[in-house]
Amino acid sequence: MLDVREIIPLPLATVIYPEQHPLAGESGIVNAYVVRHADGLLLVDTGVGEGSTLVDERYRPERRSLADALGAHGLSCGDVAAIINTHLHFDHCGDNRSFLGIPIYVQRAEYEAALRPGFTIAEWVDFPGAAYRLLNGEAEIATGVRVVPATGHTPGHQAVHVEMDDGLVVLAGQALQSVAELEHLRRTGRLSEGNAPANPVASLASARRLFAYRPRRMHFSHDDAVWEGGGRRSVSNRTRRWVTRCLVIPMASLWSRGPPAECARRRPRSPRQLPGAWRRARPRLGAAPRADHRGPNRRVPRGSAAPGGR
Ligand SMILES: [Zn+2]
Repeated sequence: MLDVREIIPLPLATVIYPEQHPLAGESGIVNAYVVRHADGLLLVDTGVGEGSTLVDERYRPERRSLADALGAHGLSCGDVAAIINTHLHFDHCGDNRSFLGIPIYVQRAEYEAALRPGFTIAEWVDFPGAAYRLLNGEAEIATGVRVVPATGHTPGHQAVHVEMDDGLVVLAGQALQSVAELEHLRRTGRLSEGNAPANPVASLASARRLFAYRPRRMHFSHDDAVWEGGGRRSVSNRTRRWVTRCLVIPMASLWSRGPPAECARRRPRSPRQLPGAWRRARPRLGAAPRADHRGPNRRVPRGSAAPGGR
């Protein structure tokens, strides 16, 4: 039994894409997700906020409150232990303000981009009581839950990897727009015309990288459909502990001691010459998540910023 119990989609809004948008005139859904974890609820994105005339006029959102969406599953905003923003466009961070003092995990590059005019609604990102935890790359947020950079749509976009009993589940955010786009990518090796990321090269690389993890399932911010990939199965905590105790630690210890004296003359000189088991055990030593928890709660200039995202 792993620590993640369930992933629940929370449909929080529908929007109509405006003229400048690649999907102009079409309606789109806005999903957040809740990860039920042994340590508490992890909320991935918070939907479209209220109070921006600009957003209301351009995107005509029909909202459902987070309280209602959580309440439908017997949960409440008070149960949320941490928030992960895939990115800080207005339809992903709109209700961050409801979680004063709750850790909000976001990539540093994304936070810094959000300070620039036109990227998002600044006051939905930065507000008194915001408790951002700025990350510089991949990081474990809770046991079995990792954020993994998937840039391209925005400079600091991240996907969420969740280890469940039946395998790895990826919450892709907008690294990919939909199941249809994912299938297009698999057929053609390219992103679809309807997706116009800020950085197409990085976006394509990120999307391909998500496959490399061989997920069982993938969820998207703007598609209700779930991609069933049938990828690798997760290793249970019990198996992971057994492997660590019976294989990794002895191998690490063997490596630190080096080969027996009688073999000293033939001691390998470089990682390429190491026996296979040593080579595999070696990268595990000292591995640690690269998380930076010193993120500032900087004030963002308020005012005329127009939301550039979706
Ligand atoms: Zn976006």
